[in-house]
Amino acid sequence: MSHSSRQNEPLSHRAAGAGRFAPSPSGDLHLGNLRTALLAWLFARSTGRRFLMRIEDLDRVREGARERQLSDLAELGLDWDGAVVSQSHRLRLYDNAIARLRAAGLTYECFCTRKEILKAASAPHAPQGAYPGTCRNLTLEEREARRSSGRPPALRLRAAVTSFSIDDVVHGGFSGVVDDLVLRRGDGTPAYNLAVVVDDADQGIDQVVRGDDLLSSAPRQAYLAGLLGLAAPTYAHVPLALNDEGKRLAKRDGAVTLAELKALGHNANQVLGMLATSLGLAVRGEGVDLAILLDRFEPDGLPRQPWIFKPPTP
Ligand code: GLU
Repeated sequence: MSHSSRQNEPLSHRAAGAGRFAPSPSGDLHLGNLRTALLAWLFARSTGRRFLMRIEDLDRVREGARERQLSDLAELGLDWDGAVVSQSHRLRLYDNAIARLRAAGLTYECFCTRKEILKAASAPHAPQGAYPGTCRNLTLEEREARRSSGRPPALRLRAAVTSFSIDDVVHGGFSGVVDDLVLRRGDGTPAYNLAVVVDDADQGIDQVVRGDDLLSSAPRQAYLAGLLGLAAPTYAHVPLALNDEGKRLAKRDGAVTLAELKALGHNANQVLGMLATSLGLAVRGEGVDLAILLDRFEPDGLPRQPWIFKPPTP
């Protein structure tokens, strides 16, 4: 469907929901992140959805990263609706969700150290990456003994399933591991999986477009959404940008952020062109803007393979 025909579409045919980009402010966005943001924007805007920006700052925060991330996205021309939301301002929502799960008997305290978990999870019968349930059925005495060790426990979900299926626009039906995932870490921080599920539903997000490194988290999140009585969104897990060794793009790969590319003489529009070319939405060197890309974008035409990034010549 073309951009113009979409514009002529009656409002009642447009999706009421929203898409989003949810960066963690742990550093500058590299080309892979920018490409995912562009795709999330294209998916949302091409379906008449709002596009929301959420800063996932419950974890490691690097000074100034949030501001640089937002200004890089804006410089590429991406726009978003409403105010930028920060997870650190939404702790009450996560507390409420955890309290509901707790009241339903769906949680338990976990005293395991990271080392203990790794050891148990590598046992031959453990599904890959799954918590083996060490603390799930502790007796009262055992729990008291563990508590008196002084380590504040994490809170885990008492999952009733070991796998769950989701539909993904890129990957089709995908079935993945669900384990007793952490809801709240020992240090009191709400866990990523919980926060993401609560936020997406609370913000009216019904379309999640993100890197396919998170595909394996989607079954956990969709299952958790169901337990909280929330609808799971539509998922599109898009291919990552890799270096020529097949590793995730990173600082060591040279000029990979907008600032670094600008320092080499590439302007933001050329960087947008680079991303568009990698997505098959432009030919190399062509001048593009977001309206053109929106017009050309078709989810079915999305490359299914990772983007192998080769540093541009200055
Ligand atoms: N904050 C996560 C990241 O930057 C993305 C989470 C998500 O999109 O669900 O990797």
